[in-house]
Amino acid sequence: MLWNSLTMRFALAVPCVECAPLPGPVSGIPRGTPMMLTAYRDGPCYEMRCPAGHTSLMVLGNPKYEILFQIGANAIVDGYYREAVVSFTSSLERFQEFAVQCLLSNSEVPEEKVEEARKRVAKQSERQLGAFIFLWLNRFLTLPPLLSDGDYSFRNKVVHDGMIPTRASTLDYGNKILRIIQSSMRLLKGMLSEAVLTVSYRNNKAAIEQSRLGNPSISMADGTILKHVESADNTIRLEEYLPMLVDVQTLLASVAERFPQTPN
Ligand SMILES: [Zn+2]
Repeated sequence: MLWNSLTMRFALAVPCVECAPLPGPVSGIPRGTPMMLTAYRDGPCYEMRCPAGHTSLMVLGNPKYEILFQIGANAIVDGYYREAVVSFTSSLERFQEFAVQCLLSNSEVPEEKVEEARKRVAKQSERQLGAFIFLWLNRFLTLPPLLSDGDYSFRNKVVHDGMIPTRASTLDYGNKILRIIQSSMRLLKGMLSEAVLTVSYRNNKAAIEQSRLGNPSISMADGTILKHVESADNTIRLEEYLPMLVDVQTLLASVAERFPQTPN
C-alpha cells in the first residue's frame, strides 16, 4: 500500500541524501531527488524511509511547543476548531515547561534534581503552572503573561465539556497564546540566551539517545509560526499565516503525488 495526498496529510518533506547526496548546505537540493514525507511525530526523532527503501534518521530541531502550535493552526485550516484549541493549550503548557527548564538551568540547578522535581508535578498541569509563575516572578520580578480566567473557562469547556468552538473564538484564543509565547520567548532569549540554547540542545540530545536509532543523518528545523513571530512585530496575527499553511499543504500534496510513500 502506498500513501499519497488522498490518504494522508503530511507536514514535512525531506530529501533522501542516499539517493542524491547533497553537495553542500548552500547548493540546494538536486532536481529529481526522491523526497520522504511525514506528518509531525512526538519528539524530534523521525526514522524515515525513501521510495527506494533507504532509511534515515532525521532530527527536527523545533521545540515541542512550536510543533503543537503549528498543528493547532493546521487544524484551523482544516476546519477542526476543537482540535486547534486543544493543541494551542498543549503548546502553551509545553512552552511553560520549557521556560521552567531554562530558568532552572540559568540558576545552575543540577539536572537530576530538576528531573526529580518534574516527576512530582508532571501529572498535574495546575502544579506546573504554579511552579512556572513563581520561578518567572523570582527571576524577572514580574508575573509572566498568562491567560485570563475567561480564557481558562473557554478552554475548559472545549477540553472537558466537548464544546465545539467557532472559528472566530478559536482564532481569538490562538492569538492570545501566540502573543503570550511571543513576548515571553523574547524575554527568555534576551535575558537567558545561554540557558535557552543549553536546554534546547540537551532536550534533543536526550531524545536522540532515548530513541536508540543511532546518529542522525539529517538535521532540520521547520519554519513554524512561533519561530517566525519571535522576530515579527507585536501586531502580527495568526490568521495572517493561514494562507501560507494552505500553500504548504498544496505543495506537500503535489510532492506526495510524485513520490508515493510507503508507511514507516
Ligand atoms: Zn533513497
